[in-house]
Amino acid sequence: MSSPVWHPYAHLKHQAPALKVVGGQGTHFTLESGEHLLDATCSWWCMIHGYGHPRLVKAIQEQAATLCHVMLGGLTHEPADLLARELVRITPQGLNHVFYSDSGSVGMEVAMKMAVQYHFLRGRPQKHRMLSLMKAYHGDTAGCMAVCDPEEGMHSLFSGFLPQHYFAPAPTSPFDADQASVDADLAALRKVLEAHHKEIAALLMEPLLQAAGGLNMTSPLYLKGARELCDEFDVLLIFDEVATGFGRTGRLFAANHADICPDIMVLSKGLTGGYLGHAATLATDQVHDTFIGDSEYHAFMHGPTFMGNPLACRVALESIRVFEEDHYLDRIARLNAVLKAELEEDDDLRSHPRIADVRTLGATGVIEVKDSADLKGVAEQARERGVWLRSFGRWLYTMPAYITSDDDMRRITDAMKASFLNSPGNR
Ligand SMILES: *Cc1c(COP(=O)(O)O)cnc(C)c1O
Repeated sequence: MSSPVWHPYAHLKHQAPALKVVGGQGTHFTLESGEHLLDATCSWWCMIHGYGHPRLVKAIQEQAATLCHVMLGGLTHEPADLLARELVRITPQGLNHVFYSDSGSVGMEVAMKMAVQYHFLRGRPQKHRMLSLMKAYHGDTAGCMAVCDPEEGMHSLFSGFLPQHYFAPAPTSPFDADQASVDADLAALRKVLEAHHKEIAALLMEPLLQAAGGLNMTSPLYLKGARELCDEFDVLLIFDEVATGFGRTGRLFAANHADICPDIMVLSKGLTGGYLGHAATLATDQVHDTFIGDSEYHAFMHGPTFMGNPLACRVALESIRVFEEDHYLDRIARLNAVLKAELEEDDDLRSHPRIADVRTLGATGVIEVKDSADLKGVAEQARERGVWLRSFGRWLYTMPAYITSDDDMRRITDAMKASFLNSPGNR
């Protein structure tokens, strides 16, 4: 009998049945059949320590024996308090306040609501729209769908249901672009701000790496320029670091590459090392202190049931400790060296007629093909080599766990390249 579980992003008529996972250890998970698969995606980019990490498992077990859950309304507890302090310590200087929620999407909803209310409280209620970028992905809830790419994004059929926001073109300058090329991208951003800043509460972006919208990478100079434009037009800068946070771009946060501080930053995915769903929306004093006042509108009216869940906070604390003690940034630099050598610097791959671009950033490697049909069957071929890949659209990518060895990293890149370099289709 088929399972009543309705799977995400699945085409019900054509989808192969989901594979049943019975366990996981390190970089691999195990299927019911006994098959071990090396996970090239670390489960939608969150299992940064891999599966079954003893310290993270122990942290959850210890916390479970003490306190699994308590509401955060009017109450607090040590894991919530300690994690907030740690997040303030490790994020860019200036983000001093932490609002918890239960997923990346909700963390972004919180950020947008905060931005609108911030301007409302400063007597600018007309600043209630967002400025987002084409190729953006910020989550699947209604508020988030409305700031995802409205054309190429996966939510275009909902356009009649969603509030309307402003969009600027996606940046086109690569990571190592010079100022002149970045200036062209910034000019496009300025144009929208000049025309509509009176209505815009915040500019939101996935800094450096637009992930689910097509793995588009850009320069730290673009972030710097965006920061300046936001200051000029009294617009808050929101960094959605749900995917980029915790090392994915090679620094702890993408903002670190540009040495700037957004007004609001959202973290999720890697926050708990993937072991539990949770998110944090961080804000500066300037944003937070605007909410100190006497009117009924000064309270921030948001409070997800599971915000600040003790299990999630405790495992997030342990995740940060392991990240620092085991020198993950060095590991990420090593993984990037392998990704660069095996993907970016492979001339046969780069010049392959079906491939549009090959790029890497931190622990992220991408092969972009010209036609999505060219990725058909790639996942099945990778599985035969013992590697779990899941491409989308025109993008075949890896975002491995940071504990991945150089050899396993090469097994992943070999599996990514196999269908281009070994197949008879190589014409
Ligand atoms: C995954 C993702 C989200 C949504 O997070 P969920 O936990 O799936 O709700 C938001 N923004 C970015 C950049 C993401 O990658």
